Amino acid sequence: MAHYEGVIDRYREYLPVTDATPNVAMGEGNTPLVKSQSIGPELGCDLYFKLEGMNPTGSFKDRGMCMAVAKALEDGKSRLMCASTGNTSASASAYAARYGMEAIVLVPAGEIALGKLAQAMVYGARVLAVRGNFDDALEIVLRATTEMDIALVNSVNPYRLQGQKTAAFEIVDELGDAPHMLCIPVGNAGNITAYWWGFKEYWEAELSKTLPRMMGFQAEGASPIVQGKRVKNPETIATAIRIGNPANWENAEDARDASKGAISAVTDAEIIDTYLRLARDEGIFCEPASAASVAGLIKIASQGEDVAGQTIVCVITGNGLKDPSTAESTAHVELEYVEPKYDTVMGLLTNGSGRGR
Ligand SMILES: *Cc1c(COP(=O)(O)O)cnc(C)c1O
Repeated sequence: MAHYEGVIDRYREYLPVTDATPNVAMGEGNTPLVKSQSIGPELGCDLYFKLEGMNPTGSFKDRGMCMAVAKALEDGKSRLMCASTGNTSASASAYAARYGMEAIVLVPAGEIALGKLAQAMVYGARVLAVRGNFDDALEIVLRATTEMDIALVNSVNPYRLQGQKTAAFEIVDELGDAPHMLCIPVGNAGNITAYWWGFKEYWEAELSKTLPRMMGFQAEGASPIVQGKRVKNPETIATAIRIGNPANWENAEDARDASKGAISAVTDAEIIDTYLRLARDEGIFCEPASAASVAGLIKIASQGEDVAGQTIVCVITGNGLKDPSTAESTAHVELEYVEPKYDTVMGLLTNGSGRGR
């Protein structure tokens, strides 16, 4: 079997690459599509989780970042810059490190999960913590990258979405057709756009017979597309989708409308319930933002959406290890300290059931 390099190598014919484009690769893509053991059977559908937290830096952002970095290198750039709620900066920093570029990342101060900040720092990026929100940081980055010779690698960079669409290809390659529904969290709305483009491209090439309904989910406190208006101070525990003015707003509406899908909201309580359920019933530890896709599916099913017998894929966008403080504050598990004595441990295990669920 040929050595797997990454999405550029695997899906070259569908990507904007030339002979001059370097094969930037770190094993991104080729992520597992895992069948649900608990939630799917309960809903009566064939439910799969696309585990994008298995990418090299722990989120789907790597699929698009390898494309953006390849094109920046092709263009002779030696610096890249992004504004980020965390995962974009982690990914940009990693690829920059691997390919000898300087990375400058602007993050909203105090609003970024610890694991993501740790990544940018260890990969050696210059990290600027902006005293404002993501939208403020992006505005600065947009201006800086037009005035200076620095590659912009936010998802307004068109190559990012080109790389990200490969996730849709993988799903069709594996299932033999598109699912009936794709459930996905929506922040800047780049990923829902990219998946839609990928499904459409395969369908136009007659590599799939059908197109999925695109079901996007925003957090209620950061749901501009659902409300139809910009949210000035977005608030949600799911920091990866805490976005008040999505860069790909119109593209997401197009994906929604053209696929007869929907974009709706889930509350933080629903996100956290599902985040814990995914871990405890499915063995999947994801980011709060990722749980929005599954929380949304459970919610629309409870509201009467007919999911029975359908093939449904929920995109699990990022790895739970990124955000240890949310894990600690929501799992409500007290460590049970115990003396290093066999009898004491046995006493605890035989006396009552412990913490339960
Ligand atoms: C970036 C990100 C999202 C949101 O994706 P958009 O393309 O901005 O809509 C969701 N979950 C995780 C873990 C992310 O890193």
